Amino acid sequence: MLSLLPDYADPRRLCALGKAYEGTVPLAQLSRVTPLLTSTGGEAAFVLQFGTDADGRAVVDVHVRAELPVQCQRCLDTVRLTVDSVSRLALVEGSDEAARLPENLDPLLVGDERLGLRSLIEDELILAVPAVPAHQPEQCPVVLAETDAAATQHGDDDDARDPGPFAALAGLKRESGQND
Ligand SMILES: [Zn+2]
Repeated sequence: MLSLLPDYADPRRLCALGKAYEGTVPLAQLSRVTPLLTSTGGEAAFVLQFGTDADGRAVVDVHVRAELPVQCQRCLDTVRLTVDSVSRLALVEGSDEAARLPENLDPLLVGDERLGLRSLIEDELILAVPAVPAHQPEQCPVVLAETDAAATQHGDDDDARDPGPFAALAGLKRESGQND
């Protein structure tokens, strides 16, 4: 029972009807996601399944897949983040109800207004982007350069365990402090 994704809908009604939506949306149309991206080409594939869980709660399963171009915070180049994310959201009317949800359910706060269905896709993608995106170390030019530099310098750390003259000086200072 797949339908074209409406912009806005009453989520309770969609759950009661067991509606499902599957399709793709251009990343450029996800206005809350685009500020996180280095370019807005490409699209996100989604499945939204509305229904009722075993406990009688109105829930929506959100499955989003996308490849997001984000900025590596080490080298500032683009890293392509593969997102394949599934969440089950329970419709709640307030924070009290949200706090009572079991751990496997995330709250979806719904009021009297209709819900922007794209916001479900946006939220899933935003949560999938780490606070500090970065390449895998073996793929980041900055890390590779640092690893090379460390390898070149190796051999200078032979007496790292020797506390050195400053440690002795610090010991003297402590003793003179106690004598005052
Ligand atoms: Zn990088």
